Amino acid sequence: MDYFPVFLDLKKRRCLLVGGGDVATRKGRLLSKAGAVLRVVALDVSDELRELVQENNGEIFQREYQSSDMQNCFIAIAATDNEVLNEKISLDAKAINIPVNVVDSPALCTYITPAIIDRSPLVIAVSSGGEAPVLARLVRAKLETLIPANYGVLANIAKKWRDKVKTRFDTGDSRRRFWEKILQGPAAELALNNQSEAAEKIIEKELLSEDQTLTQGEVYLVGGGPGDPELLTLRALRLMQQADVVLYDRLVSDGVMELVRRDAERIYVGKRRSEHAVPQDNINQMLVDLAKQGKRVLRLKGGDPFIFGRGGEEIELLAQNNIPFQVVPGITAASGCAAYAGIPLTHRDYAQSVRFVTGHLKSDDPNVSWPELTNPTQTLVFYMGLVGLKEICETLIANGRAETTPVALIEKGTRADQRVFVADLSSIHDLVARQDVHAPTLIIVGEVVKLRQSLNWFNT
Ligand code: SAH
Repeated sequence: MDYFPVFLDLKKRRCLLVGGGDVATRKGRLLSKAGAVLRVVALDVSDELRELVQENNGEIFQREYQSSDMQNCFIAIAATDNEVLNEKISLDAKAINIPVNVVDSPALCTYITPAIIDRSPLVIAVSSGGEAPVLARLVRAKLETLIPANYGVLANIAKKWRDKVKTRFDTGDSRRRFWEKILQGPAAELALNNQSEAAEKIIEKELLSEDQTLTQGEVYLVGGGPGDPELLTLRALRLMQQADVVLYDRLVSDGVMELVRRDAERIYVGKRRSEHAVPQDNINQMLVDLAKQGKRVLRLKGGDPFIFGRGGEEIELLAQNNIPFQVVPGITAASGCAAYAGIPLTHRDYAQSVRFVTGHLKSDDPNVSWPELTNPTQTLVFYMGLVGLKEICETLIANGRAETTPVALIEKGTRADQRVFVADLSSIHDLVARQDVHAPTLIIVGEVVKLRQSLNWFNT
């Protein structure tokens, strides 16, 4: 190990920063975040750096650097592009034992600054010892995506409860077990969702509980997107990786399932149009039962759980049973298919609104106002529309939407084998009937479909 990592307390301490350009401003930003009082020495000082200096009552010496500037400073940073000057600053600092960092010159430094992931009070520092800073930054980027933005909230709660937990458990071992349980369970999830109060209630309950083995289960209702695993949200991925059991259906792609924790139990609950492997009521009940066994249950759904996903019904029973749950939005088929087929759903010149419609509509359904669907400046997106395609097109035309209105049918949108068929309201059905089209398919109706030719740069 070439360097020994430490975290400095810079609050109210004077730090010398020589330089006033972009690099110096970046350093100044970090120093001031840590509460340092800046002493900036430079001929030119950026506006932002000026403000940062003022924030903590620092000082600016707008002139050449001189050795006495180092006096009474806790650390020093040289961020100038003048090599001779940088070397002088380094020598001055070493002479009076002030730690010094010269940006991009490891040989002149007595300390180096790491790449930082800031979830204060949790801070992660990554360093390659100055040898491969780009690599350190890449590691940081990976960690940034792995560690939820609200980890700081969680750390603050842990800090707040630390003493009480210490009083309740007398051995380090039992305290560790307690925290492991809390930090991986529903309390942590609540904290990460900014619900600190509810999280603390759970901690309080667990602290009072005699039985320290019992953990409360929870349910994650997660939108898995339309198919391409890269369209998952960071939160979806994190919950997929920590679930004990997953209930999934046909719409969830293999690529997405690949990313579920390897040793999680997998339960297929079906849902083909003609085959309902598990009736909805049973799915709702299974979620409750599994959570009551203390499991972290992932209910993984295609697209977004609240768009034609019956997500509302699933959480109703959970709420009735006081089971903690969270809903994670996903990219709905309309967004995914539109993007991957090169069709913007709205456009200043062609469509001022977009409507998501179930394809289970009947032409004589009293609950459907067909005339509302014929506005030529409104894009329609039909989910579950393949079987009723002919009836939908005919009824739209009968109610006044132009026969020539462009229509796209997207099969297996966002997946490697996506296909797009384009025709108009009068001809799409015949075109599709000649092809061997498989679910899932999405139908987009409206002038915006025309834009596909100019915008479609892939997936022809
Ligand atoms: N909750 C889902 C929709 C469930 S309804 C979502 O937000 O996307 C099921 C319908 O979604 C299918 O019949 C189909 O119309 C559409 N669908 C879902 N994934 C699709 C995909 N990859 N390509 C095309 N259509 C899709």
